[in-house]
Parts: sequence; structure tokens; C-alpha cells
Amino acid sequence: MEAIILLGAPGAGKGTVAEALVKKTDLQHVSTGDMLRAAVKSGTEVGNKARSFMEAGELVPDDIIVGIVRERLEAGADDERVMFDGFPRTLEQARLLDEAIQDLKGYLTHVFLLEVPKDILVQRISGRRICRQCGAVYHVPNLPPVKEGICDKCGGELYQRPDDNEETVLNRLKVFEEQTAALINYYEQQGILVRVDAARTADATRDAVLAEMS
Ligand code: AMP
Repeated sequence: MEAIILLGAPGAGKGTVAEALVKKTDLQHVSTGDMLRAAVKSGTEVGNKARSFMEAGELVPDDIIVGIVRERLEAGADDERVMFDGFPRTLEQARLLDEAIQDLKGYLTHVFLLEVPKDILVQRISGRRICRQCGAVYHVPNLPPVKEGICDKCGGELYQRPDDNEETVLNRLKVFEEQTAALINYYEQQGILVRVDAARTADATRDAVLAEMS
């Protein structure tokens, strides 16, 4: 197993760039946010535990997150290439991920830090719309669907994530600064951090990531 991480503040474009990478590579997209939203929707035990943290823009406790990630990795093929999006978000998660990768005899090859100025982050999050059916991400006005409110890919209904409201967004940015930014140093010390200007289009950011990996 080989892994890369997309690291960045909420709104940096991790999910959109991940989707763009999936189309061009064999990388398997592992988004803890998507996994948690699915768990909330289907009312599983994990979902019920996670819901209130997510609604407040707080981090879900590490043991829950590491549990779902380990389960996902253990179910994957030995030779799969994984792309983490939104994970890890704390130093503890990063340490536990290192352990899990070691146990699976895998490697973490690159950590891409998607860098975007704060004013653009806020603007991106407040315009974000997601397909209820397939999870595709749109943006009003940057990346609108052909037909308003309808997903181009599957015809599903587009919605705004409940945690994309202004108050929660500001808390999520604060949580990033307080808890996730420490990971930059952690991976810089391991010599695998790559900074990428992600203020441009998703395709341009994707190409910068691909150039580093080749
Ligand atoms: P995201 O879709 O990555 O922005 O995640 C949405 C929300 O899910 C976050 O604001 C957290 O409440 C929760 N979440 C997702 N990934 C993690 C993680 N690795 N650690 C803790 N909480 C997470």
C-alpha cells in the first residue's frame, strides 16, 4: 500500500482536487468527511456519535476517526494507492496513521499542502454546493452546474452542507489553525511535505501534484 495526503484548510479544495486526481490516476480517494457524512445519513453508531461535533465545526474524536480509517485500509487491496483527504487532522491521528501504514507494510510518499489565502477560503466554502446522490462538488459562481441545483453527473439534487454556514466556517478555520497546522511541521521534518499553490483552478493544482509524483 502506498499513500499520499492532501492537507489544507477547509475550502483549500482538497475534495475537488482529489476528484480531479481520481480521473487521471489509480489513486483511491479516502475522505473521512465523506465517510462521516455517509455514517450520519444512514444513522450508524459512528454517525450518531459524530453528528454534533460536525454540526459545530469541531473535530470528531481521534479514536472514532482512526477506527474508520483502519477499517477502510484493512479492507483495501495490498497494492492499492490511497489518497487521504481531510485526514489526518491532529498530531495523534498522524502518529496513529504512521503506525497503521507500518502494520500494513506500506509507505507514505507525499503530503501535499494546498495553500490558499484566507479570504478565498471563506468565499469558496460559502459558495460550495454538493450532490446529495454522488457527492460531486460544485461552486456558485466558480464551478456552477449546467442546470441550477442539479448535478451534471447524475441528476441528483445539490445542497449546501449544514457546516458550510458562516459561523461554523469561522470555527472550522480556527480549528485548522489550532489543531491541524501542527501537521505541517510534522511532515516537513519527515521530508515529505510539498507546498502547492491551490488558489488556482483544480486542474492546475492537480497538474502540480501530478508533476511532483512523477
Ligand atoms: P471535511 O469534509 O473534511 O471538511 O470534514 C467535515 C467535518 O467532519 C469536520 O469539520 C469534522 O467535524 C469532521 N471530520 C472529518 N475528518 C475528520 C478528521 N480527520 N478528524 C476529526 N474530524 C473530522
